[in-house]
Amino acid sequence: MGPLRGDLLKKELGIFTFRDLLDHFPLRHIDKTVVSNISDINYQTDFIQVSGKLVYAEVMGERSGKRLVAEIRDSSGRIELVWFQGIHWVQKILQPGSDYLVWGRVSFFNGKPQMSHPEIEVFAESKSDGKNFLEPVYPTTEKLKARSLNGRQLGKLMAALLPQVSEIDVPENLPAEVLGTMKLTGRYRAYCDLHFPPDAGAYEAAVKRLKFEELFIAQTRLQLVRINRHRSSQGVVFEKVGDFFNDFYKNHLPFELTGAQKRVMREIRADTAMGHQMNRLLQGDVGSGKTIVALLCMLLAADNGYQSCMMAPTEILARQHYESLHTLLHKMPVNIALLTGSTKTRERKKILEALLDGTIQLVVGTHAVIEDKVQFKNLGFAIVDEQHRFGVAQRAELWKKATIPPHVLVMTATPIPRTLAMTAYGDLDYSVMDELPPGRQPISTVHRFETKRAQVMDFIRAEIGKGRQAYIIYPLIEESEKLSYEDLMQGYEQVKGFFPESKYSISMVHGRMPAEQKDVNMQRFVRNDTQIMVSTTVIEVGVNVPNASVMVIESAEKFGLSQLHQLRGRVGRGVEKSYCILLTGSKVSNEARARIQIMCDTNDGFVIAEKDLELRGPGDIEGTRQSGLLNFKLASIVNDKALLEKAKALSEKILNADEKLETAANQPLKDYLISQKGKTAWSKIS
Ligand code: ADP
Ligand code: MG
Repeated sequence: MGPLRGDLLKKELGIFTFRDLLDHFPLRHIDKTVVSNISDINYQTDFIQVSGKLVYAEVMGERSGKRLVAEIRDSSGRIELVWFQGIHWVQKILQPGSDYLVWGRVSFFNGKPQMSHPEIEVFAESKSDGKNFLEPVYPTTEKLKARSLNGRQLGKLMAALLPQVSEIDVPENLPAEVLGTMKLTGRYRAYCDLHFPPDAGAYEAAVKRLKFEELFIAQTRLQLVRINRHRSSQGVVFEKVGDFFNDFYKNHLPFELTGAQKRVMREIRADTAMGHQMNRLLQGDVGSGKTIVALLCMLLAADNGYQSCMMAPTEILARQHYESLHTLLHKMPVNIALLTGSTKTRERKKILEALLDGTIQLVVGTHAVIEDKVQFKNLGFAIVDEQHRFGVAQRAELWKKATIPPHVLVMTATPIPRTLAMTAYGDLDYSVMDELPPGRQPISTVHRFETKRAQVMDFIRAEIGKGRQAYIIYPLIEESEKLSYEDLMQGYEQVKGFFPESKYSISMVHGRMPAEQKDVNMQRFVRNDTQIMVSTTVIEVGVNVPNASVMVIESAEKFGLSQLHQLRGRVGRGVEKSYCILLTGSKVSNEARARIQIMCDTNDGFVIAEKDLELRGPGDIEGTRQSGLLNFKLASIVNDKALLEKAKALSEKILNADEKLETAANQPLKDYLISQKGKTAWSKIS
């Protein structure tokens, strides 16, 4: 290849070396012996190859609507081809009157078949007698296409390279035991077959092998981080369960712990007694009772002479945690403080002093807790509640608070899918609370159109008549905060129309309110002085008002699944039957409709998390974007769950037997990991 095309390959695809080229995987393969008639195309057609005469190729439209439109005609019919990018490049190579071979995905526009950005090349009869039935097509760019490096031409480069590559260049990196158990193709063979499969079966085997490799290597790395932390990090040792814990457990715990809560406590106790720092993710559904687990942990720390802190993402939530912990602990000799952005200077000064001299054992707060000014005498346990809103960097700040890093428990607001937890948080230890406290009735969820708002309000009135309370939530759209504020105000007026002030009291809370006012309004609702809470999503996480039995979500189509589930979790916290009503306009997109249907079908946060991942794909899940751990080339945590489970299990098996990868059998794996060091960012976790 000449220097010009070589440079383009570097710039356009980042291909600098033979290795890079080998790692440029085909998008798909085409059976080039099959050329269809244009008239064969129907609504079911996906990808297809046709050939015919180019009738015209013209630039149409202006500015953003600018496009290149061409038409190919064969003896059976015609099809339009469209390009929106690289118009200039493509037009240069198209000659009306010549015959072309065209390959691409068919879509229909105004009832007529169309291909956008197809592969196109001059038709040559000899095409049909190639040896490979399955010809690879590679991802490429319009610029490269114009330089005769389209998806198929890249295949020719690959065809020239592969025969020069041998097993030494692509050494095996999986232990023989793993290859055997999983019945995997060898690495070299897999590369050959991925690019030029002799048949469909060989291709599938190659894909399976390389997907597994990606997942296995990622899992092994994560396990190694964990093992390393266990081996080398110093941790506070909680050796005993003492008076604080026992006194509370025997005399003040208002209910029997669920089986899941007990199990998680056992896991945490074992982990904090080992002498290494605990770094644990606690997954629990909304309402599964994570707060009490947090409290028990903090008492355990106190028994061993250590302080604890608990951080919540919002001021309302921090205060609420403080209130409930304070109530639970009021008969115990434990000092607990609340520290937030709006704590008054004098009060703050007192708290900071007491944290430094150790007279305060527990502090609950917002990110104010991790500010530099806050110094502890001996911080031993840190809890991060509702982790979605807490950044990785903020968690890392905790380390600086003590010479030996405190144990860290990260609690999720709602479950995250298992495969995601395994990849994005795979180096954390992991506990699950998959059981709700007894006596909860499932929440009934329904979808109603806005035209039925009056009936919905009647329903709320009836519930209030029984002594219950209701939430009415409005969406908060980041891009137009002003608009959502106006929506909320309008909504508030509307609600007042349905619930006249002479008979009802309404609280309102929104993001623009000063913290103090938010708090007053929230507290009035908590005390049942107000029957209705009108709010934006500021109350989304954690708020606990067990007497509330109705959750109305306005413009529900604008919310994501985990947010809807989290909001719904504000009701159904008491013994009364609770309801969630999702209001939408009459026009709802298919995706929003699917979300709403899932909400109506299930209350199970673990199921919802899985569906959410299926609907949105992994790139979109909150808090994982920066991880880089989900950028697999072939594998997908959505579609390859079973393979991921096996990769994890086998990786653990290998490392359990040989945690330093010292045996001869594991040498190839070790060599590979060392050779790849620094190529991926995977050390993001606290
Ligand atoms: P979340 O996991 O969503 O943070 P909370 O900790 O707020 O849940 O608990 C939800 C409600 O369940 C609270 O009112 C709490 O007092 C109650 N609760 C927690 N554990 C139990 C239990 N074992 N038995 C009965 N009620 C419980
Ligand atoms: Mg909570």
